[in-house]
Amino acid sequence: MDLAAAPPALLVRRHLHVAGAWVDPADGEAIPVENPATGEIVGQVPAGTPADVDWAVAAARAAFPGWAATAPAERAAHLDRLHAALAARAEAIAHTVALELGTPLKLATRVQTGLPLTVLRSMVELAARPPAEQTVGNSLVLREPVGVVGAITPWNYPLHQVVAKVAPALAAGCTVVVKPSELTPLTAYLLFDAVSEAGLPAGVVNLVPGTGPVVGEALAAHPDVDMVSFTGSTATGRRVAHLVADRIARAALELGGKSANLILADADLPTAVKVGVGNAFLNSGQTCTAWTRMLVHRDRYAEALALIATAVAGYRTGDPFDPATRLGPLVSAAQAERVRGHVERALADGARPVAGGPDVPLPPRGHFVAPTVFADVHPDSALAQEEVFGPVLAVIPFDDTDEAVAIANNSRYGLAGAVWSADENQALAVARRLRTGQVDVNGGAFNPLAPFGGYKQSGLGRELGPAGVEEFTELKAIQR
Ligand code: NAD
Repeated sequence: MDLAAAPPALLVRRHLHVAGAWVDPADGEAIPVENPATGEIVGQVPAGTPADVDWAVAAARAAFPGWAATAPAERAAHLDRLHAALAARAEAIAHTVALELGTPLKLATRVQTGLPLTVLRSMVELAARPPAEQTVGNSLVLREPVGVVGAITPWNYPLHQVVAKVAPALAAGCTVVVKPSELTPLTAYLLFDAVSEAGLPAGVVNLVPGTGPVVGEALAAHPDVDMVSFTGSTATGRRVAHLVADRIARAALELGGKSANLILADADLPTAVKVGVGNAFLNSGQTCTAWTRMLVHRDRYAEALALIATAVAGYRTGDPFDPATRLGPLVSAAQAERVRGHVERALADGARPVAGGPDVPLPPRGHFVAPTVFADVHPDSALAQEEVFGPVLAVIPFDDTDEAVAIANNSRYGLAGAVWSADENQALAVARRLRTGQVDVNGGAFNPLAPFGGYKQSGLGRELGPAGVEEFTELKAIQR
């Protein structure tokens, strides 16, 4: 697509953000942006090139010494201004996420917009209080900013994932080049409108949109990028890790998940099922932490399946801008096709459908998949092992807690999980046995200050809170 040929009704962004200014890309190629609820093209952004990446990395490199030497209180003041400029765009952000990702507007407002604003606010405070210097024996131990960060982000939480990298990196004294997902780049542009308005020093944070194989690879392989912070699929994370390892640079990887929700025999079943189904279907199931395996004690299994069927009947699928909609489309035709393939394979593998499935009527246009639940899913089957990234829940019975823990840990992933029990001590004891980076007990609320990240193939490193800032630092020991 030629940038100059864009119809005027489109949301057209023609520039990169480099060295504090909106600038023309080296090339005139563009990437179209689709509304997944209709299939219509609603916008376009430049298709960045390796030359654009070189330029942005050079700008970040030039800005690094000054930003690293900026007093913490001053860095915090910059982030505070960025927060104000972003908050002023809340409505536009929610609409843009609903348009390019298909998240229902209410959820786009509460989660897709509210969460990154909360995270950015937390980073204003953490920027003002940098990690303390420590004395260990005759050593003074410092934490220094790691340098230039390349941030590569996915489409499912298009503002949150950028903010969860940019804000702590800036708080730590690093400078950043951002490559947002090519499927949802318009939301990232709103962040950079806020960056412009907030008057951040030139080059401290730069934007190069483009595809993964071109801009993502160029950024991950760039010799002047000290650290790559990547969120996305495990397959792409592996590729990024190779590129980074080749030049012994730092990498933080936030990858996929197949999280288990353990409902013990004494749990408050209606609440556990309602929250569990809601979690699995959040953002049409396109959430890395989604509890996509519901493990239910056999004594409560039949009761749980009935509650699940009732809960799923309340999920209306459709137009993200209709207030009655609870489930929007999947992000793309390819993603919807992939999810339908998982449903068909689960049926072939003998899983028992208890809600949804391929025959449910759906809106005539757009990339919709019906919310679908399978019971009696074998813990080793593809549905229990592979990340579906769609509104598909696998229900698995267990007979005792040891078996539940073994099923939960029978995964190459280890991102999140949940435990429900009337006995909080029992739930906590089970939570300690799960090999995952996060566990919610009895619906414990998401904490933006808690370290977020995965065990096993769910990733390396942690985001958010003080641990998320430390991720962007190097340790230095000075002996005296
Ligand atoms: P993806 O891996 O396809 O893409 C992620 C990003 O990587 C995009 O910006 C993409 O352009 C880029 N990319 C693609 N190929 C690349 C390459 N060869 N080199 C460098 N960059 C490249 O993932 P996605 O489909 O956008 O997102 C969905 C996945 O993200 C799911 O697996 C989900 O679990 C995961 N995810 C994980 C977390 C977490 O925090 N653990 C959060 C959200 C999403």
